[in-house]
Amino acid sequence: MAGKNREKKFRAGVLGATGVVGQRLVQLLAEHPWFELTEVAASERSEGKTYAEAVRWHGEGPVPPAAAGLIVKGLDPSLDCDFVFSALDSSVAGPTEEEFARAGYPVVSNSRNHRMEADVPLLIPEVNASHLDAIAVQQKKRGYSSGFMVTNPNCSTAGLVLVLKPLAEAFGLEKIFVVTMQAVSGAGYPGVASLDILGNVVPFISGEEEKMETEPQKLLGKWDGARFVKAGLGISAHCNRVAVQDGHLECVSLSLKKIASLEEVREALREFTVDEELASLPSAVKNPVAVLEEEDRPQPKRDVYAGKGMAAAVGRVRECPLLDVKLTLLSHNLLRGAAGAALLNAELLASRGYFKSGLGSREARVEEPVGG
Ligand code: NAP
Repeated sequence: MAGKNREKKFRAGVLGATGVVGQRLVQLLAEHPWFELTEVAASERSEGKTYAEAVRWHGEGPVPPAAAGLIVKGLDPSLDCDFVFSALDSSVAGPTEEEFARAGYPVVSNSRNHRMEADVPLLIPEVNASHLDAIAVQQKKRGYSSGFMVTNPNCSTAGLVLVLKPLAEAFGLEKIFVVTMQAVSGAGYPGVASLDILGNVVPFISGEEEKMETEPQKLLGKWDGARFVKAGLGISAHCNRVAVQDGHLECVSLSLKKIASLEEVREALREFTVDEELASLPSAVKNPVAVLEEEDRPQPKRDVYAGKGMAAAVGRVRECPLLDVKLTLLSHNLLRGAAGAALLNAELLASRGYFKSGLGSREARVEEPVGG
């Protein structure tokens, strides 16, 4: 059943609702046409307080009124909702997400823990929506009934792969060399201490280069009905933390399988549009890549909200003397790279019939497998 035709909204819970990503989810859910926030959960530090008391709010404007009075719960999988988002710290996300899936909840996760597992979709709807077919295998293999896990990629991988997708389709890709300049909000709160980052660049982000070198292989690879087949790309990533609030900038050089002119590369990026199914999702944008012509763009300050924060902005498409083409891209790490990405994933799941209403009680949740 398509989410847009529903009279009743699906009830959403947010695990890790007090964190930087969780807060964005709470904000986005406040005005969502298909989903209603009914549960927030976090650590023992927050449990039992109202959301407004527990959260150190970073959003624009006040805490959404519908969320402010919700009591923050712990991580017991007995929440009154139809599915959960997970924006949990990775130290707890792994087993918690499995417990929720086993208890019958669809889990739409931001965390890294399950991303590369053999039966868990790592999803960017515009890139690899067909990978959702892995859910049926996951449920069978793990003995889940109505529950399952779907993940979204690391925040810098998200923008990169969105730009690589149309180039892979049009010309084929061989090698990718990428250097990132990543915003401080990507490290959560309180994240990097101000004395370490102000007037400085930190050329190390734990685990980030490994994620950027492995996740695109799964995202741009195929689900063959039984397993994910890697894309077989050569990728080298350098990741740096810079004193920018939001928006990861990436300088990319790449080699293509087919010879293409710079204009053909720009054209392929410009023409990357979503199909009707995706265009009907509330958080989708028609053009997930925005091509900028100015010689000094994209810039985090000016371009981070391209396509409501859900597009990757690309500029400086030019020849690379070492590989074939080089370009600069920017994406919003908390929207395209985290909360917005999870929301779009949930919208696709809802639209394909993977969510069921009225699963508040444990008995109801374990009734029947779902899938569309
Ligand atoms: P964060 O600001 O540090 O928030 C972490 C959340 O997890 C908080 O709600 C915190 O609750 C909760 N938590 C921590 N320890 C817990 C425990 N022992 N038990 C229960 N809850 C616990 O982190 P974030 O930046 O929002 O990131 C959340 C997840 O998304 C991480 O896995 C991160 O890797 C991933 N992610 C982040 C970004 C980004 O740009 N920031 C992008 C993509 C993915 P309390 O407030 O109660 O402590």
